[in-house]
Amino acid sequence: MKNNMLKKESLERWKIENAVDLYGVLNWGAGYFDISDKGEVVIYPSGKPDDKAISLMDIVSGIKDRGLGMPVLLRFGDILQSQITQLHESFRAAIEKFGYQGIYRGVYPIKVNQQQQVVEEVTRFGSRYHHGLEAGSKAELIAAISFLRDPEACLICNGYKDKEFVDLGLYALKMGFKCFFVIEMPSELLLILERAEALNIKPLIGVRIKISTQGGGHWTESSGDRSIFGLNTTQLLSVVDQLKEKNMLDSLQLLHYHLGSQIPNIRDIRFAVAEASRVYEGLVREGAPMQYLDLGGGLAVDYDGSHSNFPSSRNYSLDEYCADIIEVIMGTLDEQGIPHPTIITESGRATVAYYSVLLFNILDASCFETLPLPGKLQEGAHEMMVNLMEALQSLNVKNIQECYNDAIYYRDELRQLFKHGNISLREKAMGENMFWHIIKNIIKEVKKLKSIPSELEGVDTVLADIYYGNFSIFQSLPDSWAIGHLFPIMPVHRLDEEPTRNVILADITCDCDGKIDRFIDQHDVRNTLPLHDLKSDDEYYLGIFLVGAYQETLGDLHNLLGDTNIVSIQITEDGEFEFIKEIEGDSVADILSYVEYDVKAMVARFRETAEQSIRNGLITPKERQKIMKVFQAGLRGYTYFER
Ligand SMILES: *Cc1c(COP(=O)(O)O)cnc(C)c1O
Repeated sequence: MKNNMLKKESLERWKIENAVDLYGVLNWGAGYFDISDKGEVVIYPSGKPDDKAISLMDIVSGIKDRGLGMPVLLRFGDILQSQITQLHESFRAAIEKFGYQGIYRGVYPIKVNQQQQVVEEVTRFGSRYHHGLEAGSKAELIAAISFLRDPEACLICNGYKDKEFVDLGLYALKMGFKCFFVIEMPSELLLILERAEALNIKPLIGVRIKISTQGGGHWTESSGDRSIFGLNTTQLLSVVDQLKEKNMLDSLQLLHYHLGSQIPNIRDIRFAVAEASRVYEGLVREGAPMQYLDLGGGLAVDYDGSHSNFPSSRNYSLDEYCADIIEVIMGTLDEQGIPHPTIITESGRATVAYYSVLLFNILDASCFETLPLPGKLQEGAHEMMVNLMEALQSLNVKNIQECYNDAIYYRDELRQLFKHGNISLREKAMGENMFWHIIKNIIKEVKKLKSIPSELEGVDTVLADIYYGNFSIFQSLPDSWAIGHLFPIMPVHRLDEEPTRNVILADITCDCDGKIDRFIDQHDVRNTLPLHDLKSDDEYYLGIFLVGAYQETLGDLHNLLGDTNIVSIQITEDGEFEFIKEIEGDSVADILSYVEYDVKAMVARFRETAEQSIRNGLITPKERQKIMKVFQAGLRGYTYFER
């Protein structure tokens, strides 16, 4: 008997594999993330199991030793390098497999993460493959020509272009950059032709078309007839005719479309390539010396690891993506005897998402606790209390739904009674306590059911704890707030312990939208995140993963919380790691000056206020000195919670 019990206990003991399953780390980690035997999240910087694993907790302790505060954004250049390599190697393999006659050229769209470090590293790591850049504005073009050196790499100019933008692009072309102007709107052509003539530089021109396929996902407005960018067929032919008229059709060499970002379904990708290949064929027949087919972005990231066509996932691998593209283009062009174009893709998200991890500590928790129930109700207790007690006692797996409805009804009745002065504050509290006991028991019973009645779905979230994280969703995770995008979130340590709390995450913006209550799941979306109990002496660290794309520069200064500290980690030859770059986050004074405060004048004003307080006898001059010190230290400090 005793033996049996022991066996049972060890069978049920929490194991690292349970944590791997629970957080799905191998599903979304793409080989870069795993959990060590010590229960810590580890990184395999090139995504290969024979890499030496780097523990995030070792990095955390390095950060602490250097006196940097949480939150910290980690960047792993090795992961970026590996993503660029994989993209090119996958296309190379598909080109070989199908005997494709053209080549592949990748470009990185700067808007996906414009930070100098990112653009600099993309061009450095990408130079082996002639990886280029895509610029959507003047500022991005200036960034691009400052970092790109490779005459074989493509430089694609999208977006609205004014004279300065066009002149700069033309000069870049003359200097040897392979710089294309992509015509997004019919009116742009005239300006480009005019400036080209004035500067006597023959432009390289591309056309962006609207694709009628609409990809499913968050970001699909970029395609379809109603997309704001791109030419429809009539406009496209009018561009061709104008070029012919000016005897400039030989400038038109590239066809571009962008289906939208994060396209989860490979079918949409195939449809779009097929449609574009037909247009390409049409332009060749019109006499344009076409050479490039630029498929834009859209290559998705499997954020939830479900490998499905769910918006935060993708139902294809990188290899399938490349193979399908090659196959579809050949399928269309071969039968027409048209030479294979150079394929360009503008993959941003898939290139940089894995590269950054946001680390933060939990500051506090607000846990849901019920008080013990009285053994028996008091003599003369209100009828509604008696009803609640009965509901509680009669609850079983068969009458869950009925009990739930009753409990809600009695609780609402109690609230009415209180409002009309029929029961006391203490009676109301007691009734509510009983109500929460019922809900708790319902949650226990619901777990025994095979299928959960729709009304009871998510009932457990009402009892979830709230953990307060030292970060700002508005600054560091804008897509979570704006469009409900899901990111993998998990503790980076203590994974050898079973997590016992179900949690909703709140940030420190004190905005009621500053919370995360939807989490990734293999089959669905979770309403709570399983986390560990907080220990009073130890910090508890969480990581938000796959945040390298779009999150940093879309973030805003809500509640004047600014840029986080950034630390770049590089793996050395012997598999150890080094801190190669630290970018200090914004100070309070930085943030205030971004929103046009004059910090010096603020200090002077506050000093006057303090002086007035002395005159009013509220503080002493010595106290003024102390107060001013605190004020000025506050200005110099980090905008996040400092321990
Ligand atoms: C945003 C954008 C991209 C990047 O798309 P991803 O899905 O992030 O790869 C590429 N091309 C254009 C024109 C874009 O606007």
